[in-house]
Amino acid sequence: MKELVVLSGKGGTGKTSLVASFAALAGDAVLADCDVDAADLHLVVEPKIIRRSRFSGGSRARVMSGHCIACGKCDEVCRFDAVFYDGPGNGRVAKTFRVDPIACEGCGVCAWFCAEGAIEFAPADNGVWFVSETRFGPMVHAKLGIAEENSGKLVSLVRAEAKKVAEARKLDLVIIDGSPGIGCPVIASIAGADLVLVVTEPTLSGLHDLGRVAELTKHFGIQTLVCVNKWDLNAELAAEVEGRARQLGVETVGRICYDQAMTEAQINRQALVEYANAGAAADVKEVWSGVSDRLSKLGPFAIL
Ligand code: SF4
Ligand code: SF4
Repeated sequence: MKELVVLSGKGGTGKTSLVASFAALAGDAVLADCDVDAADLHLVVEPKIIRRSRFSGGSRARVMSGHCIACGKCDEVCRFDAVFYDGPGNGRVAKTFRVDPIACEGCGVCAWFCAEGAIEFAPADNGVWFVSETRFGPMVHAKLGIAEENSGKLVSLVRAEAKKVAEARKLDLVIIDGSPGIGCPVIASIAGADLVLVVTEPTLSGLHDLGRVAELTKHFGIQTLVCVNKWDLNAELAAEVEGRARQLGVETVGRICYDQAMTEAQINRQALVEYANAGAAADVKEVWSGVSDRLSKLGPFAIL
């Protein structure tokens, strides 16, 4: 089984559109939406949820106001300004201390220092993850709770579950919509993957982002390809991006032209290759052909 991760340096480069089209072209692959901060693959592939599970990425403090004597120790030791003196009173004190669940970083120091044992430190409810069916095959995806931070744990969980689904169904490929950027979530998206495709644009930030992502994939020893989306918006910069890719030892696997059909396909909740045949859709098929060729050279892999 192979894991292909589609990445970009930032959001809005067309990464998710490409993933949806790859899913359509691959046939029976498992989809994993690891862009959990801004998950939107579900808008195109319309998953039918068959299993839903809670996700807890850590613990969080909560003052049990009935036990609090308002000594203020928790406020004193909290480095994250998450403790406030505005909790409800009890039989002993008029006001108690309270932990703001959004500001709490879950370090547990306050619970350790509270001599009254008035702080509960329990697993937090950080989000939910799903196993679904789509018209292209199974999909694992997730939703972070409001104001929850993505540490990469949920991304790792989505990837691990997608692999389990692939093994159970005897499917050869997991296509991962990776987190953008170069932080913990993207590292969780790519570590141990077989192939990374970087989707970039002909802009100065695209040029810069390619360098950062390529450094990261090189660090993890993962074969990396690049494709330039909307290349014709700035042919000169597109060539520069490809030149930079060559310097970085990253092969350019294709160019995708700017095409209004990409947006129209999304509005119609279709993958681009379902919606159109020519223009960008034809370019995406070329890119997929290059990517699947590379995947097949990595070892046993059935191109469907
Ligand atoms: S340390 Fe414990 S008893 Fe003291 S204010 Fe905080 S919660 Fe209340
Ligand atoms: S767990 Fe840590 S961050 Fe949260 S309130 Fe206690 S000391 Fe502050």
